[in-house]
Amino acid sequence: MPNTYLVKNFGQYNFRHARQILAGTPNPAALITDAERAAAGLAYLHSTRSRRYRLVCDPWDGQAKGNKAQAHGWLQAILQLAPHNEAGLGVNLCPWADGCQDTCLSTAGRNGTTPAARARILRAWAWYYHPELFARTLTADLTMLELDAELGGLRPLFRPNGLTDHLNARQYASERPSLTVSDYTKSAARVLQWLRQGPANLWMTYSASGPDDPNAAAILDAGGNVAAVFDGPAPAACTVVTAWGRRVPVIDGDAHDVRPLDGRRPGGQLVWLQAKGAAKRGGSLVMPPGWGEAAGMVWGTADHA
Ligand code: SF4
Repeated sequence: MPNTYLVKNFGQYNFRHARQILAGTPNPAALITDAERAAAGLAYLHSTRSRRYRLVCDPWDGQAKGNKAQAHGWLQAILQLAPHNEAGLGVNLCPWADGCQDTCLSTAGRNGTTPAARARILRAWAWYYHPELFARTLTADLTMLELDAELGGLRPLFRPNGLTDHLNARQYASERPSLTVSDYTKSAARVLQWLRQGPANLWMTYSASGPDDPNAAAILDAGGNVAAVFDGPAPAACTVVTAWGRRVPVIDGDAHDVRPLDGRRPGGQLVWLQAKGAAKRGGSLVMPPGWGEAAGMVWGTADHA
């Protein structure tokens, strides 16, 4: 039985009332019906009218990590939809997730707050129920991103899967050659395709699923970079670790999120990310304590010159 009050208010784009109703639950996806979700997604799009950036995090005032890009000459916008099954759509937005959903970045910092969760769920509903409107809204955001970047003397960078692993980064790169698109994915096939075929304005980093990841070695062998989560900060620059049976230089992935700056080298590189949110308590996503040392970490070598 639909909640007619909710439908009525979402239908009238009365987002203030909608928010009041949703405020009582940390996961609105579990609360309402399919039709109500569609109305809520539309209401969300409507509610963003006064914003410069409607769907992506505002690159001038958005995610702390995204903001670091500017110091490196880039303007980065990140799109965050609800990860995995959080939006209750029956569509898994992280199809290669293997338990990592329990310790996802969605639990960290501002992402771990109820308002942030609600917003990414509503974005996911807008994406799912109103794909054409969503796409046009995102196009407007990306046009604004490119304009802002040009005015600021920066290069525009878009990360479509801030908390998901579903949107097609290759498609965004193909549609907008003037934009650089950066993506993390657990799909080895997507990364290997990019390593073979480009395009040049796309950058893909493979997200490893712990020390037993079956694809990390192949990605490294193909010259790709592999991101992994550790329980401590990245070691000093120019560190080389033995990871998945290979000697691999380490990049501090928390210094910024402009992954295209990592570059490519034969044998690949390890993008070291410190655990955040629920991942601080461990989990399948996080390398076991001491994994680097146990695998033969070599400090201070010059291999990474
Ligand atoms: S860690 Fe990545 S793949 Fe796993 S649930 Fe979160 S966003 Fe999805």
